Amino acid sequence: QREVANRRKNFLHLVSTALIKNHDLVVAEELRSKNLLRNHALAMSIADVGWRTLLGMLAYKADLYKCQFVTVNPRNTTQTCHDCGFVMGTESTQKLPLADRQWTCPRCGAYHIRDHNAAQNILAKGLTALVKQ
Ligand SMILES: [Zn+2]
Repeated sequence: QREVANRRKNFLHLVSTALIKNHDLVVAEELRSKNLLRNHALAMSIADVGWRTLLGMLAYKADLYKCQFVTVNPRNTTQTCHDCGFVMGTESTQKLPLADRQWTCPRCGAYHIRDHNAAQNILAKGLTALVKQ
């Protein structure tokens, strides 16, 4: 058990160091605390611990390496079309289920890889937050 925890922690250190050292700006989603309390309580709480640990590592390493680190509200980052801003689940469309790894925007027809589209939205939110500072 402890070995798994250590291996996991080492992995988070590798990921956080690589992200911070190789970028001027890193943007991440805040913890989704409300969702965590709903379904899959155990699985989600494990994911939560990992994410919380990673966010903490990113924050202190950003200070060490003079990198900007910003967290943003995760609301609709996966459901919003990065090209036109349409939000799935509005205007009588269905929200994208987790199983949909790629999708086409019903408004503008843009084809998206789910995680890539979400990453673009997260970065855009981070840049907006920086401009407002
Ligand atoms: Zn669109």
